[in-house]
Amino acid sequence: MHSPEFLAASNRLTIDLAALADNWRSMDERSGKARAAAVLKADAYGIGVFEAAPALYAAGARDFFVASVEEGAELRPLIPDARIYILAGMWPGNEELFFANDLVPIVNSDEQLAVFMAALSERGDYPCVLHVDTGMNRLGLSVEEALALAQDPARPASFSPVLVMSHLACADDPPHPMNLGQLQRFREVTAAFDGIPASLANSGGVFLGVDYHFDLTRPGISVYGGEAVNGAANRMKPVVAAEARILQVRTVPSGGTASYGASARFTRDSRIATVAVGYADGYHRSLSGGGVTLRQAMPSGADGFLHGQRVPHVGRVTMDLSLFDVTDLPEGAVRAGDYVELFGRNIAIDDVARAGGTIGYELLTSLGRRYCREYIDNS
Ligand SMILES: *Cc1c(COP(=O)(O)O)cnc(C)c1O
Repeated sequence: MHSPEFLAASNRLTIDLAALADNWRSMDERSGKARAAAVLKADAYGIGVFEAAPALYAAGARDFFVASVEEGAELRPLIPDARIYILAGMWPGNEELFFANDLVPIVNSDEQLAVFMAALSERGDYPCVLHVDTGMNRLGLSVEEALALAQDPARPASFSPVLVMSHLACADDPPHPMNLGQLQRFREVTAAFDGIPASLANSGGVFLGVDYHFDLTRPGISVYGGEAVNGAANRMKPVVAAEARILQVRTVPSGGTASYGASARFTRDSRIATVAVGYADGYHRSLSGGGVTLRQAMPSGADGFLHGQRVPHVGRVTMDLSLFDVTDLPEGAVRAGDYVELFGRNIAIDDVARAGGTIGYELLTSLGRRYCREYIDNS
């Protein structure tokens, strides 16, 4: 049963919490002896942390990663006895937010180690995670810093990380030599921190196989139904479907044009459906069927799906509206009020992302606030 708001919405999302739970369980199984955590940063990759967190907890997840301490504080009441790790770590001034919400800081640098140790001296024992950069050069102590810390005789007994972690730069590209290099460097670190659980794999890392699993895996995108490995079939269930309503259907004669910049040019008499979604809804301008300089590397724009058929986007995506060419559907089949699927069951989110020169992660996290959201759980 759909809500009246959903049935009348200009654009809407259906978010399948049973598929989300199945995807997490599947990643947990693929993680073998390791446990799978779940990554809930950026409002659970755009799908809504208030709904995603309890669903993943019910599926069995007990370890959750978010980016900021603010995200962690918002998450805490939803999953009271889960472990919540904060990727951005602790800074002077936000220590209390960690303690008050029982959040585990990830120590990413010598500076953050000093902040954490200072907070610890007032507080006594408190868990943390040590993040070591094994080659991505983004965040984390260097391998040398981590090894020195492990051997430091002055290291206080109160400093006992509950996890040592690192992050893979090329897990979406299995044959990339970076993967094995990072694995070898991470092994040096885990050997030095013998007995402390370790975590290396994001979604792509889980698919790299058992050597990469260690004790805890950190799948994100796969749980949300997106592609984790380039060029491999995606076996995850789609979690999010996006649809937008056709506001008007019009005929443009051969030789006519449409949208800003007269960017769509028609070489036959055409029927064009004007659909209520635009770049303000995260339907990026780079998905345009034509007329955007930035996307000239991509041969064609995104497709929509309507009455059993793909329909191409034409012309530029605008702030609130997009145009789809429905000429190839039977005359009279397409009406104002119909919904066009932007991605979901029939069109993979990653196919749409590719058409816009981006990735499913970015499409999901830019969905915006205008969609009417309906959460379903057919488990
Ligand atoms: C976002 C993130 C993940 C999840 O990555 P996916 O590719 O979405 O599986 C795991 N670990 C860290 C450190 C992250 O920042």
